[in-house]
Amino acid sequence: MKISELYKNKKRSLSFEIFPPKKDTELSSIDETLKVLCELDPDFISVTFGAGGSSSSNRTIEIAKNIKHNYGIEPVVHLTSLHYDKSEIDEFAKAMKEAEIENILALRGDRNPTIAEKDDFHHASDLIEYLKSKYDFCVLGACYPECHPESENKVSDMKGLKAKVDAGAEVLVSQLFFENQKFYDFQERCRIAGIDVPVIPGIMPVINANQIKRMISLCNASFPERFCRIIRRYENNSEALFDAGMSYCLSQIIDLIADGIPGIHLYTMNNPKVARRICDGIRNLV
Ligand code: FAD
Repeated sequence: MKISELYKNKKRSLSFEIFPPKKDTELSSIDETLKVLCELDPDFISVTFGAGGSSSSNRTIEIAKNIKHNYGIEPVVHLTSLHYDKSEIDEFAKAMKEAEIENILALRGDRNPTIAEKDDFHHASDLIEYLKSKYDFCVLGACYPECHPESENKVSDMKGLKAKVDAGAEVLVSQLFFENQKFYDFQERCRIAGIDVPVIPGIMPVINANQIKRMISLCNASFPERFCRIIRRYENNSEALFDAGMSYCLSQIIDLIADGIPGIHLYTMNNPKVARRICDGIRNLV
């Protein structure tokens, strides 16, 4: 099923993001996680993509195929383009068609000094335009409530996003954020820019101190004082930090649902305990 169909009946979606296990780990190690995640009956599961491989060695597509055919859940394949040319993207598309995968989150991808960049796709919008001109995938795009780190300002960020939607992105999934007001302000900028596709907030529960350090270095998200107080108090107590991080995350999600967002995309970090706890916390919310 194409993910864009979900939003036509105004039902709120619940989706999970996972990443493939490391190359030296058996692919089947993800099954333990998938079993629990799929029992929670998400509308879709998206699988991240690490640039640098070929379509024949691609673990993202293998896992997506497994999700679709062995678990009966709709997968979304993340696909980056900065390090590929058109013929390589065609190979990935062919592998996805063969696996009956219908949904792609089309990305430019991060720059990686160890992998050469190619010239066919400079922005995600180039990939989206290419996929839409040649194939019939439902294409999703990424968005950044607090701006992409390379964007000069909110206006240029919004122009880049509008280009993605004009190229054919049917649903947008957001970068993580810890302050809902940042998302609400972003939604308003989207409306002003004429972006009218569903914008799904991406939410990551903070559950350990190392993860927080990594996030500070990787993403543009701001950390509200309410959140920092929790970290300061519990960073050396892993069980307390887990509980506090989950509660913070749940309070964020409940506020978003009350605001009427079209869906929740949970960055699960392959941790089924996290997904289960969040699902338990929102089961009766309409
Ligand atoms: P773009 O949309 O191309 O944006 C990059 C920059 O270019 C921005 O500053 C934007 O404003 C600007 N821009 C965009 N279009 C134009 C245009 N037409 N003209 C001028 N400027 C433009 N990375 C991975 O490697 N693998 C993954 O699986 C992965 N999954 C992700 C999932 C989500 C939900 C998100 C939010 C990010 C994910 N990323 C992933 C990270 C992503 O690849 C990086 O953030 C990357 O730096 C940008 O990718 P993009 O597709 O958003 O790029």
